Amino acid sequence: MYDLAIIGAGPAGATLARAMGRQMKVLLIDKRENLAAGSPGKCCGGLLAPDAQKMLARMGVALPREVLVGPQIFAVRAIDLAAGRERFYQRFYINIDRGKFEQWLISLVPPAVEIRLGCRLTGLKGDSGSYRLCLYRSGGRETVQARAVVGADGASSAVRRLAFPDTPGPRRYLALQEWLQAGEALPHFSAIFDPAITDFYAWTIPKGETLLLGAALAPGKDAAAKFTLLKEKLEPYGYRLKRVIRKESALILRPRPGKIFTGRESILLIGEAAGWISPSSAEGLSYAFAGALLAAKALSGGLPAAAAAYRKLAAPLFRNILLKNMKAPFIYNPLLRRLIMGSGLASMEIDLECPFRNN
Ligand SMILES: Cc1cc2nc3c(=O)[nH]c(=O)nc-3n(C[C@H](O)[C@H](O)[C@H](O)COP(=O)(O)OP(=O)(O)OC[C@H]3O[C@@H](n4cnc5c(N)ncnc54)[C@H](O)[C@@H]3O)c2cc1C
Repeated sequence: MYDLAIIGAGPAGATLARAMGRQMKVLLIDKRENLAAGSPGKCCGGLLAPDAQKMLARMGVALPREVLVGPQIFAVRAIDLAAGRERFYQRFYINIDRGKFEQWLISLVPPAVEIRLGCRLTGLKGDSGSYRLCLYRSGGRETVQARAVVGADGASSAVRRLAFPDTPGPRRYLALQEWLQAGEALPHFSAIFDPAITDFYAWTIPKGETLLLGAALAPGKDAAAKFTLLKEKLEPYGYRLKRVIRKESALILRPRPGKIFTGRESILLIGEAAGWISPSSAEGLSYAFAGALLAAKALSGGLPAAAAAYRKLAAPLFRNILLKNMKAPFIYNPLLRRLIMGSGLASMEIDLECPFRNN
């Protein structure tokens, strides 16, 4: 019997395993086979925002150089396609290789933790501190037992679905991303807004020799058509989006505080499985780390009441999501956005003709 079974070895699960691995008998599983070596990583923009940087500092770790990917950039280009307006704003992201970042986080998990990759949770039964988990591996099925279970299995969490079918999750978007061969090194990230495409946003991020183009779209039959429309509308802004190297997709959540669910008894949800992600920017890494650390604190206080303790500890995180919801209309309401971008508030001038810009 394990003390703790963690489902999902992404940023939230790996962080919790690192925090608990020396105190308890921990099992960490992930359905991805190649998570520890050479995988391109989860479909993600791979930007480490200041809040996520702060969490890494609180965790007492510093990023190894191998995780970084060029170019490191200091401006975001906001483009309102419907209004035909654009502005630049100073930003402090770190550009990372998501696959290498995940592998580095797993390398920090203590050796005492049993890690099983290529292993998917398919069933979860039991209560009051004794749970039976059905796991599927290419070799066959197996059942393990644990006194506590943590769902760190992302936006389409199996733990949430199996253990708490009565708790519908936050609003879902389908994120489509294309990796494109970049014509020139663009000196900015971009955030693109257009209600004809999505009520959330789209983005471009330079990654080494490639350009990442992504969009969070309403799920449905016309998502692919909306992505094509986005590409057409971006051409006049100087983006060369023809040579596609790779395509990927993932669900992305946009929560209100009431749709975040942290668990019950000794089953806890962390990271996007709980719904922790910014509804205004889709930044999720800082929430993955923060939730994992709060869950670790709650679990250390005793397994039977861990979920209740975690929910209490997470009060500031709930408030944070509420504030992000209040901020969202200033970015996503077309009229307010037009006013703010029109005013030039907090924007900066960029000399696009500067002869040194690609050096
Ligand atoms: C397109 C896109 C771009 C994004 N860009 C950024 C960004 O630039 N910066 C940022 O901060 N955030 C970004 N996010 C959000 C961020 O990726 C997530 O919030 C973050 O990865 C959540 O971490 P997590 O550990 O909770 O879940 P995940 O990273 O999703 O990890 C969940 C893990 O669980 C595993 N799993 C799932 N189901 C099972 C199962 N049944 N059994 C076993 N294992 C399972 C998965 O294989 C996965 O490894 C982006 C999201 C998307 C979709």
